[in-house]
Amino acid sequence: MKAVVYKGPREVGVEDVPDARVERSTDVLVRVTTTNICGSDLHMYEGRTDFETGRWFGHENMGEVIEVGDGVDKVQVGDRVVLPFNVACGHCKNCERGLTNYCLTAQPDPHMAGAAYGFADMGPWAGGQAELLRVPWGDFNCLRLGEDADERAADYVMLADIFPTGYHATEMAGVSPGDQTVIYGAGPVGLMAALSATIRGASKVMVVDRHPDRLRLAESIGAIAIDDSQVDPVEAVLEQTLGLGADNGCECVGYQAHDPSGDEQPNATMNKLVQSVRFTGRIGCVGVFVPQDPGASDELARNGQIAFDQGLFWFKGQHLGSGQAPVKKYNRQLRDLIAAGKAEPSFIVSHQLSLDEAPEAYQHFDARDEGWTKVVLKPAG
Ligand code: NAD
Ligand code: ZN
Repeated sequence: MKAVVYKGPREVGVEDVPDARVERSTDVLVRVTTTNICGSDLHMYEGRTDFETGRWFGHENMGEVIEVGDGVDKVQVGDRVVLPFNVACGHCKNCERGLTNYCLTAQPDPHMAGAAYGFADMGPWAGGQAELLRVPWGDFNCLRLGEDADERAADYVMLADIFPTGYHATEMAGVSPGDQTVIYGAGPVGLMAALSATIRGASKVMVVDRHPDRLRLAESIGAIAIDDSQVDPVEAVLEQTLGLGADNGCECVGYQAHDPSGDEQPNATMNKLVQSVRFTGRIGCVGVFVPQDPGASDELARNGQIAFDQGLFWFKGQHLGSGQAPVKKYNRQLRDLIAAGKAEPSFIVSHQLSLDEAPEAYQHFDARDEGWTKVVLKPAG
């Protein structure tokens, strides 16, 4: 089968790899119809991780079930499914509490928790930017879709990761009806957080970024765009909130944050959130920060330490949630919002391409080129 294979920093190739197959009785085999490139793939693509060359990417997957193991009884051949990016067993101490993002079984390293398809340090699972995908613990890890699965694939595929991830940011931030919410980052994840804040009834959603195309998308769903290349984002949020600060905020950038002023530590979005959010407000951080970032220009960041004024955070009595999203916790409800026509996460999709076009798409998305907001790949043509 064909797959998008990692060849080394900023290099991917579409190559023949061994076919994915049913290996255990609880496996499901999926013919991938739709799979996305994610901002999280870029951590590996840019060579910031120990992702091995020869492995293939893809953790935002959907497709058609073509084979099931003997021990699978809920999922059937022919089902259209979307696969939460967290690979989870469903039975460990964490899964039983709903923390599928920290499954203890799918992650072989006993000092770690949490697994994903096609990802560095997240277990051995192969990715879905390929023609076929092996889904372990298939009864648990498939979410079935309705008859409109093909027609609305660009909406439903967002259930694999970024829609529930954006929603998780707003859940950790406690976004409630009437709230004023600030979101740092208008990438796919930030835009999903903005959509989620709107769904949860926020009265004002402010989105900070500097890319005009991404800010326009934020405005298209009724958010206020704050361009941090033009204004100080903290001052802009305070102006929008009568000087009090936003009720809550979401970090949707991660350790690749740009530094518009040039005089601060590069990854200072958490610090800006502490300044932008009111006393006692909550912050949800889904942007990825890693214990070590060898590619960082700043020495502290290389050691995984980011600028974060804990004194001000404490003084303001704020709350913080962080980490990978437990996709399964939200995606049934979010699927039903899509099915009912009440959420259309596909508004962020800029390109729908074949698998063969992935190398070029990676280059454009990695460069944050104007107009390349979210790339959907169609391995089945
Ligand atoms: P992306 O890189 O396309 O988007 C990030 C956006 O942040 C870009 O538009 C960039 O211009 C903007 N940005 C950079 N510096 C900024 C700053 N100082 N202030 C405001 N905006 C700034 O990536 P994405 O796909 O949207 O993902 C965002 C983050 O979420 C990544 O770190 C990704 O790994 C992470 N992520 C986490 C989870 C999870 O489960 N927690 C899941 C998916 C993605
Ligand atoms: Zn993703």
